[in-house]
Amino acid sequence: MAVTGWIVVDDHYCKGCSLCVEACPQEVLCLDMDRLTPKGYHPAKMIEETCSGCGICAVVCPDAAITVYREKSEKEARR
Ligand code: SF4
Ligand code: SF4
Repeated sequence: MAVTGWIVVDDHYCKGCSLCVEACPQEVLCLDMDRLTPKGYHPAKMIEETCSGCGICAVVCPDAAITVYREKSEKEARR
């Protein structure tokens, strides 16, 4: 795959609604049952390294809690 991605969830905005978990086509998200946000919710987290950086999770998140980062492979970056 030419592009890989990863996400960062802002604990101050995430309310554990799980919409991103259900929307992720790569199924790399879940709610972190071992942690609570400052507001008392279980936040979303990545559980696999196969995020494609598609950005769907950030689009569906009603609280804009997700930032998506994308990285081109070395081969792709030389183009
Ligand atoms: S960017 Fe796409 S693949 Fe990555 S976690 Fe979000 S929805 Fe899943
Ligand atoms: S959609 Fe947003 S608010 Fe809901 S669990 Fe995911 S990151 Fe948290």
